[in-house]
Amino acid sequence: DVVVVGGGPAGSTLAALTAMQGHRVLVLEKEFFPRHQIGESLLPATVHGVCRLTGVADELAAAGFPRKRGGTFKWGANPEPWTFSFSVSPRMTGPTSYAYQVERAKFDEILLNNARRVGAEVREGCAAVDVVEDGERVRGVRYTDADGREHRASATFVVDASGNGSRLYRRVGGTREYSEFFRSLALYGYFEGGKRLPEPNSGNILSVAFESGWFWYIPLSPDLTSVGAVVRREMAGKIRGDSGKALAALIAECPLISEYLADARRVTEGPYGKLRVRKDYSYHHTTFSRPGMILVGDAACFVDPVFSSGVHLATYSSL
Ligand SMILES: Cc1cc2nc3c(=O)[nH]c(=O)nc-3n(C[C@H](O)[C@H](O)[C@H](O)COP(=O)(O)OP(=O)(O)OC[C@H]3O[C@@H](n4cnc5c(N)ncnc54)[C@H](O)[C@@H]3O)c2cc1C
Repeated sequence: DVVVVGGGPAGSTLAALTAMQGHRVLVLEKEFFPRHQIGESLLPATVHGVCRLTGVADELAAAGFPRKRGGTFKWGANPEPWTFSFSVSPRMTGPTSYAYQVERAKFDEILLNNARRVGAEVREGCAAVDVVEDGERVRGVRYTDADGREHRASATFVVDASGNGSRLYRRVGGTREYSEFFRSLALYGYFEGGKRLPEPNSGNILSVAFESGWFWYIPLSPDLTSVGAVVRREMAGKIRGDSGKALAALIAECPLISEYLADARRVTEGPYGKLRVRKDYSYHHTTFSRPGMILVGDAACFVDPVFSSGVHLATYSSL
């Protein structure tokens, strides 16, 4: 009934919900999970709301991800860091006033396996190449498997949940419009031994504005921290060339992040050993559907990461 392209949070959520309704669902995911992705700081409405609907909330709770009670910001006129807690909202006080900081490789795999568990068929290593059309209507996709063999999958609906990097979204028509204001770039890596905020906020995201942009500082475990510099486009020169030197120079520009990383070591091996750059984000597509096809998650739109909204918008759009 439904072919879902992409097994990230948007695709696995839609696949789970649709399979739970008794429909036949096929997920095509081009990578083999676990795979790296950015977007590690979550919101309560995702982990207690959407993930409760898909039946995966308890498994997430048992996975040992650090609890995020809110955000701590050094931003604006106030020279001291200030903290907001999710619990200040009357709608969120009580047992659901926290989210998680997640290693996306683990989080996305839990969600994708949950989609399998509730009845979706998931084929990893399978990349959608194009949609199959019948006049106005989309009727399926062409895809290649891990051996490069081409296949066709027919369905009443094709869901493009392939994130920001694929080109499938173009087949829905319309255009992708980029925000001029939020056309920033991010350079990020991982550190061991970084300092933690004082309790009870040690699991908070720390966001720090500085001359060239802002930093995220996300505790992924007692020892591992995700650190990213988001710089405005006119500062793009600061992240060209040697990424290691560029990140070190940006950290040196920002006293609070320098202090938090004073005794830390950058991870240089394994899945967290690479420095990565993401650019040209913040966009929306002018149309989200055509007969037989819809866009969800980053395939449809993405807003600047400053409020950690990406995974929530991805999963919520799948409802
Ligand atoms: C710098 C930066 C920082 C961010 N920080 C945060 C944050 O702190 N919190 C937050 O919530 N969000 C954050 N985000 C946003 C977050 O990364 C995304 O919004 C989220 O991952 C979107 O989920 P998705 O399922 O739509 O796409 P994805 O997570 O990208 O998943 C798409 C999947 O589709 C697969 N795929 C791609 N092409 C094909 C194909 N042709 N065939 C089959 N499969 C395919 C990919 O392999 C991938 O697994 C950040 C984003 C950026 C750029």
